[in-house]
Amino acid sequence: MKLDLDRTPVGQSDLPIDGRLNLDFGTEGPGEVRVSGALRVDNLEGRCVVRGELAAIGRASCDRCLGEFELAFPVPVELVVLRDCEAEDTDADTLVVHQRSGVVDLAEALREAAILAVPQSRICRDDCRGLCARCGADLNAGDCGCEAEPFDPRWEGLPD
Ligand SMILES: [Zn+2]
Ligand SMILES: [Zn+2]
Repeated sequence: MKLDLDRTPVGQSDLPIDGRLNLDFGTEGPGEVRVSGALRVDNLEGRCVVRGELAAIGRASCDRCLGEFELAFPVPVELVVLRDCEAEDTDADTLVVHQRSGVVDLAEALREAAILAVPQSRICRDDCRGLCARCGADLNAGDCGCEAEPFDPRWEGLPD
C-alpha cells in the first residue's frame, strides 16, 4: 500500500495493492478488510494521480439474521499525491496527499475510500429469511413453528 515516488516512472504505470485495513466499524460491520487489486498511476508533472477500483473482503454481521458472513464490496479509489505544494487543489471528492518525494503510505487514504464504500445494507444473501419476530429463531435454519400458530383475534383492533 505504498507508492514510491522516486521509482514511479513518468507517465502511466500499475500499482498492485494487497493489504489489510482496519475500518474500525466495531461489531456493526466489517472490522478488518482485505483490499486487493491494481490501481493506475498517472505520474504527471507535480502530481501523481492514483485511481482504479479495489476489491475489499471482510467479515460482517447480517442485518437480517445477525449471522456472520463474508462481505465483499468494490472500493473505488481516486487520490492525488501533490508533489508541488503550490499546485491547485483538485475537486473536493478527491483524496489529496501532500508529499514531494520518497515513499507515500497510501493506507490512510485507502482506508477512507474503503469506509465510504462499505455497503449501507449488509445482507448475508438475497434470500436471507432473517429472524422470527416472535421467538427470534434463525429462519434460515428452518421454520420455528410460530407461523403455524393460529392468529389471535384479541390483538385485532388494538392501536399500534
Ligand atoms: Zn442473513
Ligand atoms: Zn418463531
